[in-house]
Amino acid sequence: MHIIHKLSLIALSAAIITSCTTKETTFSDPLAANRDTTVNPSGDFFLYANGGWFKKHPIPDSESSNGIFRTIQDTINAQIKSICEKSAKNIKAAKGSNEQKIGSFYASGMDTIAIEKAGLTPLADPLKRIDAITNVSSLMTTIGYLHTLGTNPAFAFGVNQDDKISTKYALVFYQGGLGMGNRDYYFNTDKETVTIRAEYVKYIEKLAQLSGSATAAQDAATIMQLETDLAKASRKLEALRDPIKNYNKMSVAQVSVATPNINWQQVLPSLGIAKADTLIVGQPEFFVALNNMVKSYPVESWKKYLKFNLINHNASYLNSSIANENFHFFATVMSGVAKQKPRWKKVVSQTNSALGELIGEVYVKDYLPKGSKEKLMEIGKNINAVYADHIKKLDWMSEATRKKALLKLSKIIMKVGYPDKWKDMSSVNIGNSYCANVLEADKWKYNYMVSKFGKTVDRTEWSMTPQTYNAYYNPSNNEIVVPACNILVPGFEGRMPDDAILYGIIGGSVFGHEITHGFDDQGSQYDENGNLNNWWTAEDLSRFTEKTKRIVAQFNTFEALPGKFVNGDATQGENIADLGGVVMGLEAFKKTEQYKAGKKISGLTPSQRYFLGYAYAWMVNIKNESLAQQIMTDVHAPAKYRINGPVANMPEFYKAFNVKPGDKMYQPDSLRVVIW
Ligand SMILES: [Zn+2]
Repeated sequence: MHIIHKLSLIALSAAIITSCTTKETTFSDPLAANRDTTVNPSGDFFLYANGGWFKKHPIPDSESSNGIFRTIQDTINAQIKSICEKSAKNIKAAKGSNEQKIGSFYASGMDTIAIEKAGLTPLADPLKRIDAITNVSSLMTTIGYLHTLGTNPAFAFGVNQDDKISTKYALVFYQGGLGMGNRDYYFNTDKETVTIRAEYVKYIEKLAQLSGSATAAQDAATIMQLETDLAKASRKLEALRDPIKNYNKMSVAQVSVATPNINWQQVLPSLGIAKADTLIVGQPEFFVALNNMVKSYPVESWKKYLKFNLINHNASYLNSSIANENFHFFATVMSGVAKQKPRWKKVVSQTNSALGELIGEVYVKDYLPKGSKEKLMEIGKNINAVYADHIKKLDWMSEATRKKALLKLSKIIMKVGYPDKWKDMSSVNIGNSYCANVLEADKWKYNYMVSKFGKTVDRTEWSMTPQTYNAYYNPSNNEIVVPACNILVPGFEGRMPDDAILYGIIGGSVFGHEITHGFDDQGSQYDENGNLNNWWTAEDLSRFTEKTKRIVAQFNTFEALPGKFVNGDATQGENIADLGGVVMGLEAFKKTEQYKAGKKISGLTPSQRYFLGYAYAWMVNIKNESLAQQIMTDVHAPAKYRINGPVANMPEFYKAFNVKPGDKMYQPDSLRVVIW
């Protein structure tokens, strides 16, 4: 995925995008203005391209980063806020209507008096269920029930497409249950991680106190020990990249033999699954460890863990003493964010996350610039076309594999803009309690997911809303999904950016990137129909693997913070996708009139504008704490290396910015790599 974890400029409301020729004199050009011309592009291209903007826009105390994502998100937030407020003000909205749901949800989040008064009561039912656990059997079925509320205690569970039969859904059980998310937080010995661990224990203790425990310190030690044991049995981030090793289809009987303390005939119904013959177990050794832990830890310890897990998951929607502790640990300690965002921003974001489907319907009607979908599609088609040309010319690939690669490319489904049909949320009841509303939406999401089990896969489904500034490739559907708001380019409100920018940001970093995911270290293992199925000859596969190893080696050398290097293995899929993206974006741009005419804009040649446009896509400045977190938990390399890494493999970049041997950005021929 393209995700990173993204001014209020002029509101974009219904701005009409028309094609127009850019006139140098009539507008300020962000590409020129964002640069830091005191930095040499051949030394640090990322900083040259974006450093001027960073100087003028320091990271606010309430944010972990600042840049293009936040700028665009601010615009989107203002639009969603307006949808929420308008809905909340309409007291005539019929009960159960989309407008009532959006309005009531937003209003409940803004009603801090009611939230304070409610305390933990919105969680009374699940807390009672946890209290009633008496043995391993009721422990496991309660864990199942807690999953139906959208929480993930002890393990992760989902109804996903079967990696080997992409037309069918499967029950997928995965490692999970860690409050800090990534196993490495429990073991790394660097100073920052040691501090985070100590702060985490304090945080657990605070939450235990605030929820009425008389033995909070002891609870915290127990919970930390239990999570550490789960972490011990968990695979590392890079080990989760192998789709074959993390696909272990077992009959329920086989799983039961491997984990005799867990009664799967009871667990599955508690998860809302009436009947199943097989499960896909991502990491069998994790479930063996869990099987041992449900016996080795007393039930009372598990109850403490489950309470913490539940309250922690919902902390942001509870009273301020709990919400503030949650903010302190997850935002301040882990990401370096000192100050909370204004309440409306948090509630807008939560309303959008809970009822994004309903908001999307309004968003597309009220705010999407006309012609967005068509323009996006046009760029996508052009990228796809140059991709085919490239595959036809690849010198390292045999005809047999080439044929298959072209077939897969030709079958990529492009979903662009917004879905043709919206998901039915009519059964969702939204009332006055914020936390209860969040739970209601989470339950709906869970039930929606579980209801797919046993049905044929619906390939028209979208997993992102149109107002999400992001995109994804789903290997099981061999599809890319590009939500509408990818058309937004800050600094070009109401007018069309020149093609260099469009092909840099949207062509390269969205379409080119997502299509390449179909051909990265993971995606390349799926065939044209979305099944895990090797379509490579042995020789081509070994040549491909040799090239990916060189990408891994390049990224392993990037020291993001003193002593903290980018994880080349864990980020290789994204880095392969970035490289493919920037190469294809340029190829498609070369076919445009702007490139052919060769005219300068703001003193910049078309090629220079293309690379600056690409760097604009990753104009992100990030706090050190958040950067350290990203390196440990994210399969995306930090923004700086997503620019400097790929472009250093391209002769066109060297030519555009006069990069010479001896320059910091210079990679000798022997180390450069282009895969697609
Ligand atoms: Zn990606």
